[in-house]
Amino acid sequence: MKNLSPTIGFVSLGCPKNLVDSERILTELRTQGYQVVPSYDNADLVIVNTCGFIDSAVQESLEAIGEALNENGKVIVTGCLGAKEDQIRALHPKVLEISGPHSYEQVLTHVNKYVPKPEYNPFISLIPEQGVKLTPKHYAYLKISEGCDHRCTFCIIPSLRGDMESRPIGGILDEAKRLVDSGVKELLVIAQDTSAYGKDIKNRTGFWNGMPVKSDLVTLCQQLSNLGVWVRLHYVYPYPDVDHLIPLMAEGKVLPYLDVPLQHASPKILKSMKRPGTIERTLERIQKWREICPEITLRSTFIVGYPGETEEDFQLLLDFLAKARLDRVGCFTYSPVEGAAANQLPDQVPEDVKQERFHRFMQLQQQISAEKLQEKIGKILPVIIDEVDEEGAIGRCMADAPDIDGAVYLNGENKVKVGDIVQVKIENADEYDLWGSKIA
Ligand code: SF4
Repeated sequence: MKNLSPTIGFVSLGCPKNLVDSERILTELRTQGYQVVPSYDNADLVIVNTCGFIDSAVQESLEAIGEALNENGKVIVTGCLGAKEDQIRALHPKVLEISGPHSYEQVLTHVNKYVPKPEYNPFISLIPEQGVKLTPKHYAYLKISEGCDHRCTFCIIPSLRGDMESRPIGGILDEAKRLVDSGVKELLVIAQDTSAYGKDIKNRTGFWNGMPVKSDLVTLCQQLSNLGVWVRLHYVYPYPDVDHLIPLMAEGKVLPYLDVPLQHASPKILKSMKRPGTIERTLERIQKWREICPEITLRSTFIVGYPGETEEDFQLLLDFLAKARLDRVGCFTYSPVEGAAANQLPDQVPEDVKQERFHRFMQLQQQISAEKLQEKIGKILPVIIDEVDEEGAIGRCMADAPDIDGAVYLNGENKVKVGDIVQVKIENADEYDLWGSKIA
């Protein structure tokens, strides 16, 4: 299968602190849609993360830069030796860009300049458009597999990235631990299909910290919960197995938040999309999830105006929304993606009808969202702080994923720090956001 993702080679030298920087850069590259490759030949660009601690480390770093230039030619340099730009340029004038240690954001900007990141497309991107810049220090995306075994007709991921390949569980847990050690307070677990994690490798037993660990999502979540940070699950395909995750949420091991992209509710449209599920079954499962974990936040995304969608199909979707009363909902109007099977389908929906359905959908969901947020007034909720300025602080409660959900505004509160998790009494709400005050 042809791989169209841009590819980056990575050489990491030096101490464990530098390794944490490397992990952080690699995580961000993967979440932006780059593929990290183990050889110079297949890379569109090579990053060398250098060490400059002692003379031998400087020498090793300079040699690594020279080798990357000889083997590939397109090289950017970061890390401790990057602080001595003149020394690097004297020996290797062809290096494209140089940055110092802990310059994650600069490294990503340099990579984007020479190897543009894959275009944002809501049908294929895992992270929100606003979130493709480097995540702040207190949260990070943790990608657990690449590719996808499904063949949803509107999506080209399988032809771009191939079938699903789960990462070894030990490697994921190593990365998670390093992220937590570097100050991350919230891990956002992502993959094209998070719930399928481990199925391609027959849930084989891996190792972490010398202990056997099975490669499946429930075990992964249990292990991640031991790191003592918020763990949020995204892109959980609606398999029956998902039911096993809900008790972990009820026990407080992972956040009571489930992002399950359902895409539609009409059986005819779901079948045409090659998506699973029936409305009745999905509603029953949602009810069961809420019985097991009453505080669960359910998020989903839907596509309106998919080819062949009649007014009746759309009405089924609105009826589903009204019954399911999901907490957070995203909606896209269908648009053809080059190479997707759905482009060939008859009965494409006119643009004005798509827009009209989108507005009716959003109107209903806004009302549901506003009602659900009103129920939070008077409650005391843990809130993770994302921003602090002279006007106050902005954070998120467990029900809010960064960039795609709402926010909690703490007007006048500037004694908190980014990354703090504080208790907040909720005093006000609108359709998407909450307002409250920190309590002692
Ligand atoms: S589950 Fe469907 S929509 Fe998601 S990546 Fe796989 S093929 Fe695409």
